[in-house]
Formats: sequence, structure tokens, C-alpha cells
Amino acid sequence: MRMVDLIEKKKLAGVHDAAELRYIVDGYTAGAIPDYQMAAWLMAVRLRTLSREETVELTLAMAESGSQLDLSHIAGVKVDKHSTGGVADTTTLIVTPLVAAAGVKVAKMSGRGLGFTGGTIDKLESIPGFRTALTIDEFVGQVQRIGLAITSQTPDIAPADGKIYALRDVTATVDSLPLIAASVMSKKIAAGADKILLDVKYGSGAFMKTLTEAEELALLMVDIGDGVGRETLAMISSMEEPLGTGIGNSLEIAEAIEILSGGGDRRLCGFCVEMASQMLQLAQPDLSQQAAAEKIRQLLASGAALAKFREFVVAQGGDGRVVDDVSLLGTAAHCLEIVSGNAGFVCSMHSAELGRSSILLGAGRHRKDDPIDLHAGIKLHVRCGDAVAVGQKLATLYYGKETDPLKAQALVKRSIQIADKPQPCPAVIAGIISNERSDATR
Ligand code: URA
Repeated sequence: MRMVDLIEKKKLAGVHDAAELRYIVDGYTAGAIPDYQMAAWLMAVRLRTLSREETVELTLAMAESGSQLDLSHIAGVKVDKHSTGGVADTTTLIVTPLVAAAGVKVAKMSGRGLGFTGGTIDKLESIPGFRTALTIDEFVGQVQRIGLAITSQTPDIAPADGKIYALRDVTATVDSLPLIAASVMSKKIAAGADKILLDVKYGSGAFMKTLTEAEELALLMVDIGDGVGRETLAMISSMEEPLGTGIGNSLEIAEAIEILSGGGDRRLCGFCVEMASQMLQLAQPDLSQQAAAEKIRQLLASGAALAKFREFVVAQGGDGRVVDDVSLLGTAAHCLEIVSGNAGFVCSMHSAELGRSSILLGAGRHRKDDPIDLHAGIKLHVRCGDAVAVGQKLATLYYGKETDPLKAQALVKRSIQIADKPQPCPAVIAGIISNERSDATR
């Protein structure tokens, strides 16, 4: 087999068989296929697409490109979750202790911030002492002991995805449904959970710009998961406005603690309760939707989920006192208020621009190895639909001594639009997709 022939085949919209896809994945992972040939093939895929069968084969080849975790000796159903990436998306930090408090086993590998979206591993590193790189034995042992562990993606889990993703990032080939589906599902399959809940985001702050694209991606991933015996459910959610009100690492930890303590933003909280209920139902299929939601609300109200979060932080070497006193997370050197110049109603909050503003303030990276300021970011004081008066606080920017906030300030001002009349804002959840049901709003 020759890579040039496979590029030619895809260029002419040909269909690959399993052996060809394995040749490409294994050859690229091993360094036998150079970046320039892989880049050409990825662009051919981006333009000509892959069939469902090709996508399944590509996913399996990527999942099998390195080690695969065997979680079978952990008793109970292991459920994983994955978000396709968003802004102020603190759900992992809220939902995983919630479902672990309900007895579900969560063994989760997470990533760092990507583009304008945040990453759970960066957020967790803002907790003093917290270790995000567990050994596999520590990871599995902790899930057995307390029901929850979150570690950074190890390089030997789906290494093909790490290499291919980095190349896609610089060759304008990220926005391909089959490539995204294979990237997400290969990691999830290799990480070993029995059941998978996906949060597929659409809108200005997501990779999928339209609801239709998000639904198509969700259906494809559900199909792949179910096809390999890992029951998969996908929630479709809006990223037209940031999910929570904190954008930035320690700000998001503080917001998660606020929600787990029974307060916080209702939009984010409602979404997390729904997601946790769906995960609980995946683990305990006999539970009705109503019973699952009631159980989750009760674990939130009783403080059991907060106690599980503290246990998880301490188990990974973090300072558990942050749960009672978020000031122990520390604060940025400077802050700057943005106030409204006119009266009216918030009609749009551009998620991607707000994410980019937080990066300008130091909360994210421009290049892979850039250091980040764990305390930098934005706290939003308004939501879409809110009435605002002249001079009312819209957002607070947090940044370090060396950072010039002017560009971010201008971008945040532009991102929060005020209209004379209230305008409809999209609901967070647009639908839920599984092979048995599809409740998506169309
Ligand atoms: N998230 C992933 O893990 N992979 C993609 O390709 C896009 C989003």
C-alpha cells in the first residue's frame, strides 16, 4: 500500500476499507507517514468526507493506536462524559461529584484549554496542591476507593488522536464531522468506560455553528459508541452565550463550588442537574427520569455532592479547605469593571469573543506551551435577557501585573450587546439523542 494512492483515492471521493484506514493511522502514529502526506489526506477527508463505516473503522484504528484502559475490575457501571468544548463550561466539575455521590463510578480523562475553550485540567490546577497527572494505578485505585478520579490524558491513550489533532489544528481540518467524531470517540473508547454521555455544543462559542451540524455529529458519535458496545447518549446544548458566569480557571472552580453549595447561576445549575440525571439513568436504567432528577437535586441540597467534591480534591493532593473558603484559590493582581453605557436588555453575549478575551487576559494559551495565569479571566454579572440600567456592572476582568487589559476590555464591551426591547434567548438544552430516542428540537 502507498499513502499517495490513498490520498488520490480520497481526493476522488473513493471509499477506504478497514485495512487502508489502519495503514494510515498506524503509519502516521509510528512516524512512517510524514505530516505533509497526512495533511493532504486530512484535507481530502475534510472536502470529500467519510462514510459512516469508514468513520467507525477510523475510530477503532485510533482507539487501538496505544494502550486501552481496562476498568472491568472496578465494580459497577463506569460512566464517562465528554464535551465538544465551550466557554464557561464548568459541568465536569459539578456533574462528576454529583453522580459519584449517587454511587456511579466516574473514571475521567480530561484535556487542557483548546482555542477559545477552557479545559478541566487547567481549571483543576488552580486548586493548590491538586495533582492532575495520576499514574494508571492511582487513577483506577481512586475510582475504586471514592468513585471519582480525573486525570490528564496520558500520551499512550489514543496517541494517534494527539498527533492527528495537532496537525488538524494547523491545517484548517478541525471542522470535519467524521474527524471530530473519530477524535472524541477514539479517546472515550480507549479510556475504558462502559457508558458515555456526550455534550455536543452548537453556536458562536462551539466548533459546530448550527444545531443541524451538532445533531448530525451527535448521531454519528452515538452510532459509533453503540456500535462498539458502549451505550452512548448525546445532549445537544447551546453555546450562543457562555454556560456559566465565570470564564477562567480559578473563577470556574469557585463557580463550581458555589453551585455544589446550593447557590450559583440557575442556567448552569439546571443544565448540570439534567446532565447528572442522564448519567445516573445510564448507570441505573431502571430509574425513571423523574426519580433520577429528584435524587440528583437531593444530593445537591443535602451537601453530599459538595462533600464528594472535597473528598476528590483531597484524594488528588489538593487543599480541601477551598471548598469552604474559595479565597484560598487566590486572586488576580488587578481587576477592572465594565459597565453598561445604555439602558435596555442584554440581547447577545458572544461566547467565542468572551473566551478570546479571557485568553488575552492570560487565562489561556496562544501557543501550546505558553504559561497561563490561573487567576485571570472574566466574571459576568448579566445573562442574555436581563434588563440593565446605565452604569450597571456587566462584567469584571481579572488579570496579572504584566497584562494590558485594554484589548480584552474593548472585546468584552463589543461581545455584550444591549437592545431596546427584550429578545428571545436560546434554551441551553436543544435535545437529547440516543439510538432509542431522539428528543432533539428541530
Ligand atoms: N474535541 C476533540 O476531542 N476532538 C475534536 O476533533 C474536536 C473537539
